[in-house]
Amino acid sequence: MQNFDPQNALMEIKKEFGDHGGVVPSITRSSTFFVKEPQTLPQIFQGIRGPEKGGYYLYSRHFNPTLVALQNYLAALENTESALCTASGMSAISCSLLQICKQGDHIVSSNTVYGGTHALLGEVFPEMGVQCTFVDPTDVDAFEAAIKPETKVIYTETVGNPTLKISDIPRLSKLAHSRGITLVVDNTFSPVVTTPSILGADIVVNSLTKFINGGSDLIAGAICARKDFIDELMNIHRGRAMLLGPTLDPQVAFDLIQRIPHLPLRMREHSARALSIAKRLEELGASVIYPGLSSHPQHELMTSLINQDYGYGGMLALDCKTKEKAEELMSVLQNKENFGLIAVSLGYYETLMSCSGSSTSSEISPEEQSKIGLSPGLLRLSIGYTGSLDSRLEQIERGVKSVGLV
Ligand code: PLP
Repeated sequence: MQNFDPQNALMEIKKEFGDHGGVVPSITRSSTFFVKEPQTLPQIFQGIRGPEKGGYYLYSRHFNPTLVALQNYLAALENTESALCTASGMSAISCSLLQICKQGDHIVSSNTVYGGTHALLGEVFPEMGVQCTFVDPTDVDAFEAAIKPETKVIYTETVGNPTLKISDIPRLSKLAHSRGITLVVDNTFSPVVTTPSILGADIVVNSLTKFINGGSDLIAGAICARKDFIDELMNIHRGRAMLLGPTLDPQVAFDLIQRIPHLPLRMREHSARALSIAKRLEELGASVIYPGLSSHPQHELMTSLINQDYGYGGMLALDCKTKEKAEELMSVLQNKENFGLIAVSLGYYETLMSCSGSSTSSEISPEEQSKIGLSPGLLRLSIGYTGSLDSRLEQIERGVKSVGLV
């Protein structure tokens, strides 16, 4: 286990107060900012003046004070020098990779990543001359074997969507760095629980849409990395975030600022509930996948990666073998038991359930799904924390029994 405590790291950041002594920061909606002297504008364009160099903002696609306040939280949370927030998790992923890779370059990626990421790497990037080889995230040797002279990035998710396979980030980091390759890690499934930068990741991307926000009411993303990389992303002439323009709205950034301080508390509860439910399902004989169970093939690896006191995360998978059985169970759990909601996404305070193969991983072909061990009946559950745990355990037990899963 790691010693890093994200809760303490968040406490360290300079608190922003609002106008009139507000305990919350004020929202700066302005798209543009005036300067006193006309000479200042060219200086900002030349990088001589800026919010960190003399207190001048320019334009909100570039820097915005509310976004800067949010970015400080993200950098603290992921223990990186700097961070940049974007309008979605996908734009955080695409801008990071496009900043590093140009035509002719190559990426080695885990084959069990979010379906949208799989489509980006496997279909969109090749059309732009950036090729990708997908490998089993649990097999570091397979990453090594796939490296070519053109490889610029090793890409993985700490906890893979939706199979919950764990990436050995310290070993992947050693491999990447020995070959001059950048390790990019998506930490969306396990913020707080794991801190990939401590384990050796160079760039950590997050969909803030999920656990980090926790309210399922907005879409946002973040890139957490060294300051020089973040500065490059915002470079006026070359920055992929600056020029592709996935700017986060200050109102959305403000909403996120209100929710990050209680993220560690929420993650602890997501994890505790998920572990109890996983244990109950296992006792009943169901085919449950959860990294906190000693039956998970990478339980020991996950134990070595996690920060103390935040458990193993809120994501759990239940293999119902067929899509029909998974759908039958979801229907009972939502419509009879009131256990959770049939919906994609994750990290909400209510439990969300979806059958991944035919929804959020449907971009991955059925042949590839079977190769990566993604069963058509894999039910992915993002465990919420409303209601009493005892009643949730009773609901899921009745549910799995009533559809004959156990
Ligand atoms: N990364 C992971 C692991 C995801 O599950 C998702 C979305 O489900 C994304 C990235 C994309 O995030 P967003 O929907 O915010 O673009």
